[in-house]
Parts: sequence; C-alpha cells; structure tokens
Amino acid sequence: MGCFVGILWQRFGTPSGANDPQTGLTFDSGTDEEFTLAYKAYQNNDRPQILFYRCNREVGLDQLDPDQLTKLKTFFGNFAANKKHPGLPQDFKTTEELEQRVRQDLTKFLFNHRKLHCALCHGTRAKSLGNYLFSHQNKPRLIENVPTEVCQQCSEYYFDAAMIEMFRKVDWNSKEPQHVLETLVYDFSTLILKPNKG
Ligand SMILES: [Zn+2]
Repeated sequence: MGCFVGILWQRFGTPSGANDPQTGLTFDSGTDEEFTLAYKAYQNNDRPQILFYRCNREVGLDQLDPDQLTKLKTFFGNFAANKKHPGLPQDFKTTEELEQRVRQDLTKFLFNHRKLHCALCHGTRAKSLGNYLFSHQNKPRLIENVPTEVCQQCSEYYFDAAMIEMFRKVDWNSKEPQHVLETLVYDFSTLILKPNKG
C-alpha cells in the first residue's frame, strides 16, 4: 500500500542533480525527481496512488519568478489527458481547503484499498466462486458456487455482507438440497497437536 502526495504553489524547485534513468535528462527539481519515479512505479505496478494539489493563492509581484512559473506550467500541463502523466491535480486556496481535500482523498484511497486487498495478508482480491458454510436450526448447511472474492495470496474468502443477510432470510426448510454431505467431526481437545513433518 502506498500513496504519493504532492503539493506545489509558486515554485517548482531547483535541480536535484539526479538524472532521469529513462531519458538521461537532469530532473528540474527534487519534486520532479520524486514525482517522476513515483509515476513510473504507478505505471508498472498500479501503485503508489498519486494525489497532487496546486495552490492557486495570489502571489505578490516581487515574489514572482518567471523561470519557476514556466516550469510549473509545463509540469501541470503534462497532467492533460494525452500528455506525459495524465491525471487530475486539485486546486486549493486556503490551508483549510487543502486539509479537507487531502482528508477526503485519503479516506477514499483507504476505503478502495480495503475493498481491493486482503485484510489478513494485503494480497489482491479477485472474483471467484466459493462455498459458504453456516448453521440453521442447528443443522450445518453449505451453499456452493457463491459469487465472492478470494485472496490470491492466502485464499481467504470475502463474502458480501448483503448476500449473507439475504441467506439469513431464506426459509431453508422449504428448499430441497442438491445433495447431502457426510461430515467427519472432531473435538479439538482430542487432537494431539504435533508439528507436521510430512
Ligand atoms: Zn490474504
């Protein structure tokens, strides 16, 4: 899990001295270097998630640096759909506005991350069919081929809460099961737990 947060106002910065490994050109600034590397990683691995914010508060004339402004214009121009790094930077004027936007974006980021990844091992979740085991009137019952998601790494299943709620409302005695499974049952206290050497 990762998130890159970039914030710029009236300065793009000064060259970091490092070269872009892809183009061989010197980075325009430390921000340029960090952003370019993060964006490349995002293109290759779908992460980190990139959030970018631009302050559009007025600048006093004596603070204006034309060279810096040109660099900023080029950088933000490259967020356009057909340019170097398409995306949507967000504008803000006040600190409160920035705080509100970052909080909103990070909340959304965490929500999506939780939805797409396994809570146990952070592996990726993928659509699958699973078997849902539950008990109704003291009888264990199994529903096969339930559309669900499964962790690609540790095989943990993620059943939809609305679907489980729906199962609760079914009149199971009126449903004919497809087949009956015989189940072997063990009590935990009778198990001798030894490391499996097989
Ligand atoms: Zn997992």
